[in-house]
Amino acid sequence: MLSAKGLEACDDRAAAELVVLNTCTVTAEADNDVRQTIRRVHRENPAARILVTGCYAQRAPEELAAMPGVELVVGNSHKNRIADLVMLPASDLTPYHGNIHVGDIFAQRDFLSAPVEDAAGDRTRPNLKIQDGCNNRCSFCIIPFVRGRSRSAPAGQVVEQVRGLARRYREVVLSGINLGRWGREPGGTMRLAGLIRQLLAETEVERLRLSSVEPMDFSDDLLELMAASPRIAGHVHAPLQSGCDRTLRRMHRKYRPRHYADRIRKARSLMPDAAIGADVMVGFPGETAGDFEESRAFIEALPFTYLHVFTYSERPGTPAAEHPGSVPMPVRKERNRVLRELAAAGNLEFRRRMVGRMLSAVTLHDPGIALTENYLKVELAACREPNRIVNLQVGSLTPGGLRESVQ
Ligand code: SF4
Repeated sequence: MLSAKGLEACDDRAAAELVVLNTCTVTAEADNDVRQTIRRVHRENPAARILVTGCYAQRAPEELAAMPGVELVVGNSHKNRIADLVMLPASDLTPYHGNIHVGDIFAQRDFLSAPVEDAAGDRTRPNLKIQDGCNNRCSFCIIPFVRGRSRSAPAGQVVEQVRGLARRYREVVLSGINLGRWGREPGGTMRLAGLIRQLLAETEVERLRLSSVEPMDFSDDLLELMAASPRIAGHVHAPLQSGCDRTLRRMHRKYRPRHYADRIRKARSLMPDAAIGADVMVGFPGETAGDFEESRAFIEALPFTYLHVFTYSERPGTPAAEHPGSVPMPVRKERNRVLRELAAAGNLEFRRRMVGRMLSAVTLHDPGIALTENYLKVELAACREPNRIVNLQVGSLTPGGLRESVQ
């Protein structure tokens, strides 16, 4: 939209006339990063107009509008108007509050997203957002308040976009805030598995990968489809958050540990070599040593091949931020370390199991590296052209991945 107004992308941030920052607010650390970036941009290029958008802008626009150098703050609710807003004459922009464009995100019913034309930072694996927003209310999470209700990209639009991307890329990653809820709006009849079947039937895409899907949305139908199709990466990522029943209830998560375990065991029995990963949180308010141990033991008993471990971070405006029983930061950090060690051990065991095997992988832009369908990085024996699907024989382990065997 900015290009259509005649603006051109500038390679050098220090020389840009306008800098657009798309922000995250999922943790306090993400907020800090945003504020530091704004300060850095303003220091390097005091003349630049700075426009801040995204989730932090939606959550706390005044905080950002008050920062030196920030000219416009545009929430997710108004993102599609950015190009018009930056074209307004400076005289129409008044300092601070006049420059804030944020509305009720819950009023948003349409799926809005910029068309994805290339693989951007990843270079060979474009990430196509097909769902936005979330109707859940996990007690620690700010996302529904900045993204609004669940909305899905229409099936026809997804097919068109995947068709276009498949002309240039081998692997396309489907993503969303709560991807498993794709198509669940009132009146919707097709589910995520149905959409994937349509993509397999109507596009030439060689490999589809699902980003994160809530555990209860890994239906038998979806798992069986993943297991049956060589064009869907064997990769199951299901956020867990905690393996302790008491903690899960207080987090307002919608499943009990036994339901979660059932889905993961089903995935493993259908896909013996799939990557299986989870997001887990440590230090949720009121998490006792016993609760943590219950969670740790639950995780240890499941066949995870990797974990994303998050240290709980208070998000203003969420119910959990008001809970008593804040866990001291050193305890949170120690619990994080324990789970990371557990994750590393599970990952090592999984990688060892892959030695000697033939795996399918997509070559990355990074020369000499490929990513297997079961989500392991492989150092290639010789450089190959990026953006190809190749079969590799695994020879040995590297510190964090695998090495192709030298023929
Ligand atoms: S399901 Fe995910 S995005 Fe939705 S409220 Fe829970 S943690 Fe947040």
